[in-house]
Amino acid sequence: MSEPLRVLRRVFGYDSFRGEQQEIVDHVTGGGDALVLMPTGAGKSLCYQIPALVRDGVGVVVSPLIALMQDQVDALRALGVRAGFLNSTQYPGQRRAVESAYAAGELDLLYLAPERLSLEATWRLLDRGTVSLFAIDEAHCVVQWGHDFRPDYLALSVLHERWPTVPRIALTATATEATRKEIATRLDLTAARHFVASFDRPNIQYRIAPKQEPKRQLLELLRAEHAGDAGIVYCLSRASVERTAAHLVEHGIGALPYHAGLDSGTRASHQARFLREDGAVMVATIAFGMGIDKPDVRFVAHLDLPKSVEGYYQETGRAGRDGLPATAWLAYGLADVVQQRKLIENSDGDLAHQRRQAAHLDAMLALCETVECRRVQLLAYFGQPSAACGNCDTCLSPPESWDGAVAAQKLLSAVLRLHRERRQRFGAGQVIDILLGKKTAKVMQHDHHELTVFGVGEELNESEWRGVVRQLLAQRLLTVEGDYGTLVLTDASGEVLGGRRDVRLRREPKRAPKAARIAKQGAPADLPAQAEPVFEQLRAWRAGVAKEQGVPAYVIFHDSTLRAIATAAPATLEALSGISGVGETKLARHGQQVLDTVRAAAAGS
Ligand code: ADP
Ligand code: ZN
Repeated sequence: MSEPLRVLRRVFGYDSFRGEQQEIVDHVTGGGDALVLMPTGAGKSLCYQIPALVRDGVGVVVSPLIALMQDQVDALRALGVRAGFLNSTQYPGQRRAVESAYAAGELDLLYLAPERLSLEATWRLLDRGTVSLFAIDEAHCVVQWGHDFRPDYLALSVLHERWPTVPRIALTATATEATRKEIATRLDLTAARHFVASFDRPNIQYRIAPKQEPKRQLLELLRAEHAGDAGIVYCLSRASVERTAAHLVEHGIGALPYHAGLDSGTRASHQARFLREDGAVMVATIAFGMGIDKPDVRFVAHLDLPKSVEGYYQETGRAGRDGLPATAWLAYGLADVVQQRKLIENSDGDLAHQRRQAAHLDAMLALCETVECRRVQLLAYFGQPSAACGNCDTCLSPPESWDGAVAAQKLLSAVLRLHRERRQRFGAGQVIDILLGKKTAKVMQHDHHELTVFGVGEELNESEWRGVVRQLLAQRLLTVEGDYGTLVLTDASGEVLGGRRDVRLRREPKRAPKAARIAKQGAPADLPAQAEPVFEQLRAWRAGVAKEQGVPAYVIFHDSTLRAIATAAPATLEALSGISGVGETKLARHGQQVLDTVRAAAAGS
């Protein structure tokens, strides 16, 4: 048996490597440089942790996630791995202790904040010991136009110059070709071996719903399918984070707000509660989430449209790292399109930057309006072809497409007439009222009931018309301008008006996808009936131990491991040691208590 495989079994308690892990581990263990792109939850950490354990010296991990280093180190120590970290949150005494442990060769892994690596003092420290490898985690932080850009990452190319013989492995879950190229160039890894995994997350069920009353829709989702589950709800603004969290709390759901406007103490305590408590719901702006490796996040809900497919993929990817079923749910409406277009219009940055942002938004809108499998579209965005998945809303409940040419012509000609005959511009609400022939106060005030298009659209109802507007916006056959979201024709509108262009539109399924079918898909993997009480007892035992040690419950054992234990009901330490996720150290520390818990639960049931 190879040394890496031995370490995988002994330390981590796993049977075999997944996907390309083995090849990556062998390559880095042999001294090669690597750039690794793998989706969240695929198992990137083992790709550098195992080589660090096998090679001589200490593996140095560069990570921007200062607030999570303690948890990462705790998780490693729970496996019996000698790990430490250095960052600005420590007292000088704590730092000195880690430094001398490093120099004395008493560490396997050392986590560092990136800014430390541009300090002369850190270089001298590293030279006092032996570095086995450099791992650059969250490597997309080097991408200058990315959300997560960290200037300190640019300095990481010095690693190669200063320690030319130490292998480097950079890892990220950010997937596009352009991002990969930029990471490789900036980190001087173009000659390194690149490992690009499939970006599919088959256990995540993707669903995008028309936004009606988002708070009510969210509450329904949580009650019907995710009662008691941990999850993340993303909102665009701080204010809507606060409102949504308060709404959930009012309805008995343990929700916590998180955004950049909260002081750092509150943010840290909410993050810690989310990681430690069972079933906490974090309501957050996208400021939250990078590096959160909580494995049992069962849903990610978006109440506002993400700015790009990449962002959507990253954020939804935080669900279901443990491989058990999870839901990614997005509510999306006309107002989102208007708002996002406005944000781009008003954003700083040159024209090229605005154009890039607009292209990102268009791709996101195309994903929302597709009548094809969501996953196929998502993976295609990352250049990976696939077949219809059977586990997204369009697969489960296929929407029809319909010939929307006439509807589009009516709508566009209403916009055209308002502009040409009256020199007026209005938002979608007024235009739809005109098409529906509604004599509202605003219609009467502007004499819009005298327009020839008044009342020509009664074959569709209001929400269907909103769908038409949304989709024309998504297809750029119409656009919005200004603070009030007034509708304006585009160059392509003329082709539709002239009957020279087909318009296919998506008809929302009359009913939402059947709740029962989805609920079943969304439920955590079924446990045999006799295992349920055992699992519950094991969870209670785990909660006690985690609390005593001040670590998140998953650091003790993952849900998936507890499920396997509850199902197998082992009676001996040897049988327990065969279960995935039970390594040498955890067996020695917790084995007897686990067996006692299993026996007691089985006797009680
Ligand atoms: P990533 O960093 O890519 O998001 P992690 O390294 O956190 O993923 O791994 C995701 C989960 O999969 C973790 O719970 C990890 O312990 C588990 N895992 C990783 N590799 C294996 C493997 N070979 N066998 C079983 N479980 C694994
Ligand atoms: Zn699908």
